[in-house]
Amino acid sequence: MRLSQSLIPTLKETPAEAQIASHRLMLRAGLVRQMASGIYAWLPAGLRVLNKISAIVREEQAAAGAQELLMPTIQSADLWRESGRYEAYGKEMLRITDRHERDLLYGPTNEEMITSIMRESVKSYRELPQNLYHIQWKFRDEVRPRFGVLRGREFLMKDGYGFDLDYAGALLTYKKMMLAYMRTFQRIGITAIPMRADTGQIGGDLSHEFHILAPTGESGVFYDATFEAGDPAAAADVETFYEQMTTIYAATDEKHDLAAWEKIPDERRREGRGIEVGQIFYFGKKYSESMNFTVTGHDGTKIFPEMGSYGIGVSRLAGAIIEARHDEAGIIWPDAIAPFRAAILNLRQGDAATDKICNELHEKLGADCLYDDREERAGAKFAEADLMGHPWQIIAGPRGAANGQVELKRRATGERLELSVADALAKVM
Ligand code: ATP
Ligand code: MG
Ligand code: MG
Ligand code: MG
Repeated sequence: MRLSQSLIPTLKETPAEAQIASHRLMLRAGLVRQMASGIYAWLPAGLRVLNKISAIVREEQAAAGAQELLMPTIQSADLWRESGRYEAYGKEMLRITDRHERDLLYGPTNEEMITSIMRESVKSYRELPQNLYHIQWKFRDEVRPRFGVLRGREFLMKDGYGFDLDYAGALLTYKKMMLAYMRTFQRIGITAIPMRADTGQIGGDLSHEFHILAPTGESGVFYDATFEAGDPAAAADVETFYEQMTTIYAATDEKHDLAAWEKIPDERRREGRGIEVGQIFYFGKKYSESMNFTVTGHDGTKIFPEMGSYGIGVSRLAGAIIEARHDEAGIIWPDAIAPFRAAILNLRQGDAATDKICNELHEKLGADCLYDDREERAGAKFAEADLMGHPWQIIAGPRGAANGQVELKRRATGERLELSVADALAKVM
């Protein structure tokens, strides 16, 4: 993509309304714009990030056996009256009345809706287990929307729902989802730690939150340093993995257990702040019973399926990753979800040899590269590339171009190399 023809409205000034780095950088790098309190438009570069995160989420959900569907954002209040949550949910729910005076709402989550879909279609034990998810916008009328997309009112969530015949099955689904989540975060390129958590609004008794460490996180977190090393998703099987994840200490302040904490050797105790980027719940028959969803068992008796729900904050992740990965100059995107894997900086637009090299690079790197072909000073191009945080910068100027050389800069380390065009391409691709 040519920067001269792109809508990437970067800002030189720091926006006054932004209190934390990720919010400032998302505005400054032209990723998002606020349209109303807690409601954001995702501009082209920002949308590329959302789509890349979603693609990784989809692949790992498919690998874990989950099926994708798409439920609407608007739901009928009657569904929520069945589970008893229409009144209970309170002011975070955006309630809407249509022209026939029917009560609707903008979904903050989808347990009721997926249960009603399953209730309509699934009648026999032979049709279970099933695991379904969608990636859809949610609305929660947060008391204090803040920190940009970290706490928006409208936000993109992957929410999945497991239906099993018995507790053993539901627990296995829970473990598989935890593994899928750890693989997802690992592929995205960040460290997220699973922590025992309270179940809150969703209800139930087994739950973990996944936290990214960042000083601006809203939760206090306590964990064993073992989580910082190792490769959590490398365990031989799902049982071993789950055993490891749940025996190594990690808890948010709400669930912090001093007795267990004090058993960890001093040098392995870590205390910090975390951003919640996902949460998984097992809640048993809460919705199948309240909404009367049964299947017929093999002996003809009625069974209320055992359920769990599995959420990832897709739009929050974009902000949380920046919160964990930035410096004075700007964003440091992980390779897997950067809006563009590489940027080409043409330091002398109009110089025949330089233009030729840049055009060749642009063609070979394809859609995942941003070509800064503007008539701008070199200094401005460097600053904007650092701000936008492309993992690789390929810098072409007349001196190197005369010998077929470019400079390759790695954003994360600042390392620079003089290379031939072919060698630069080989490193980046
Ligand atoms: P929080 O504690 O931050 O209010 P939550 O526990 O209410 O989040 P869940 O119901 O567990 O959120 O939803 C699943 C995921 O959706 C969360 O882990 C988070 O990543 C994301 N999420 C929740 N609320 C918001 C929001 N207001 N803006 C952006 N993402 C959100
Ligand atoms: Mg909340
Ligand atoms: Mg929470
Ligand atoms: Mg939560």
